[in-house]
Amino acid sequence: MSTNNLSQNFLTDKVVIEKLINAIDPQIDDHMLEIGPGRGALTANLIGRVKYLSALEVDPKLSDLLRSQYSREQLGVTEGDVLKTDLSKFGEPLRIVGNLPYHISSPILFHANSYFPAIKDMHFMLQKEVVERMVASPATKTYGRLSIMLQYRWRMELLFDVAPICFSPKPKVWSSVVRLMPMVKRNNSVKNYTFFDQVVRNAFSQRRKMLRNSLRGIVPEDILVSAGIDPTLRAEDLSVDDFITLVNSTDR
Ligand code: SAM
Repeated sequence: MSTNNLSQNFLTDKVVIEKLINAIDPQIDDHMLEIGPGRGALTANLIGRVKYLSALEVDPKLSDLLRSQYSREQLGVTEGDVLKTDLSKFGEPLRIVGNLPYHISSPILFHANSYFPAIKDMHFMLQKEVVERMVASPATKTYGRLSIMLQYRWRMELLFDVAPICFSPKPKVWSSVVRLMPMVKRNNSVKNYTFFDQVVRNAFSQRRKMLRNSLRGIVPEDILVSAGIDPTLRAEDLSVDDFITLVNSTDR
């Protein structure tokens, strides 16, 4: 993988780094994992605030650099691809932080989402447009599978925006910092999470199609009707609760 494929835009603005660390508010006994520590802009400010920090970095040069800067008692660097890493090995309840590699931010969010019960919270710097998709409301252009699958489990808050000039090299896009806190208790939950995932995936894989067509073969039209959902609506018209009701109306 070349450096250019790794989204290596390093955070250099000290005010932004401080704001992000304050938002994370590290506590000495936290089990904390930093994804993509890079040259250590955040790492340097987390070390000392927590007794022990885990970091996961795919670039061997950067992993070696970090290992040369800190003792093993302070920092555990795992060299590897976050998408292929079992996050449960970093302890529980886990706090995950990172200025994420933007080219794979959605896959990272879905990967982290699958460790839901073991995660205390997450603070990420992401492309602003991705954060807008995460927190989007129904019937908007940015609302989609990412919004639903994350909103089902997390309370999300866009904390602040960050300009390209705060990084080196400068990215082409604006960034935002987002906090994800687990939803302690939902009023409404799905009986079959795997099927929920499949329904949302199918509905949005053809988001311009009516639900009766996009869900053909997995949710019969009469089930849509009995769940109180107009089969001529499109995926983006349904709230998270609508999807839950729909999934629970099936015999799956
Ligand atoms: N945290 C640093 C900072 O704020 O300056 C670097 C952030 S940079 C946007 C993203 C970092 O993620 C880079 O260090 C890059 O090498 C690393 N990275 C890219 N793809 C990765 C992957 N699949 N798994 C783990 N780390 C990855």
